[in-house]
Amino acid sequence: MRNVLKLMGLVVSLSFILLSPTISKALSVLPESPEEGARKVSSTLLQGKQNVLIVLVDSPKKPHSAGNDKKSYYEEALVSGLNNYYKEVSYGKFGVSVRITDWVNVSDTISDKHERARKALDLAWGTTIPVLWPNDYDKDGNGEYDFILIFDTVAPTTSEVTSMELEGVTPKPIPGTGKKLNWYAYMRPSRELALVAHEFGHLLGLLDMYLGIPGTIGNIGRWGLMSAVIDWGMPYSHLCAYSKVKLGWATPIELDQSGDRIIKAAELKDYGSVYRISTSITFDHPLETA
Ligand SMILES: [Zn+2]
Repeated sequence: MRNVLKLMGLVVSLSFILLSPTISKALSVLPESPEEGARKVSSTLLQGKQNVLIVLVDSPKKPHSAGNDKKSYYEEALVSGLNNYYKEVSYGKFGVSVRITDWVNVSDTISDKHERARKALDLAWGTTIPVLWPNDYDKDGNGEYDFILIFDTVAPTTSEVTSMELEGVTPKPIPGTGKKLNWYAYMRPSRELALVAHEFGHLLGLLDMYLGIPGTIGNIGRWGLMSAVIDWGMPYSHLCAYSKVKLGWATPIELDQSGDRIIKAAELKDYGSVYRISTSITFDHPLETA
């Protein structure tokens, strides 16, 4: 596929040599700092290997299916899967050590998600995994858990990443740990790597890139992990170039001079290139594909 951009008659052409159509489809104008509603994550949490805790939660009325729904069922899909995914999209700058707890049972009388999440974490800490160290899950030392995903059988079908503070609830320390739960993912138990990687992306500070949904920062169609139009169950996309730049995993090359550019696909292991084109440039043709 070859795309040509013409800039104000300066005869600037860009030759996009792509192994996949991802880049051309993902070309869109995104705001410079779309931070509203996004988690603000310390840069120390965006580099190196970080610890992620997934807590398996059920309730007396909606128990997990005993026998074949053990934590190993989720470990097989997610432990190396999530790490490999993020290692690849960060070009080796970031990875995750995922730990999944045994099932904890939270009473049906506790229906509020925040209360269920707190109770689940309390139970996981106190009973199922005696060797969890709170400081291992607060690497930036801000007193809050870094990366917690609550997999609850009674969660709504729509996954969400939520912040107690943003919802007007005061984060409180989980008993015995001294650490507060504030940001976390709340979702049905899932082995779907694309879904879990997407929700984890929110914990890293990324927003959705859906079309027409308030609070989202643009629409990138189906060509990025933070889009809604991921084909669950199908091979999933990389994070888009914009997300990689925001997380500090790619450095954009500013396009301010005429000339030919070969843009390697951002998915390439030898570090695909990311170009940033100033929105002050007026195009004769926004994008021409040949
Ligand atoms: Zn999302």
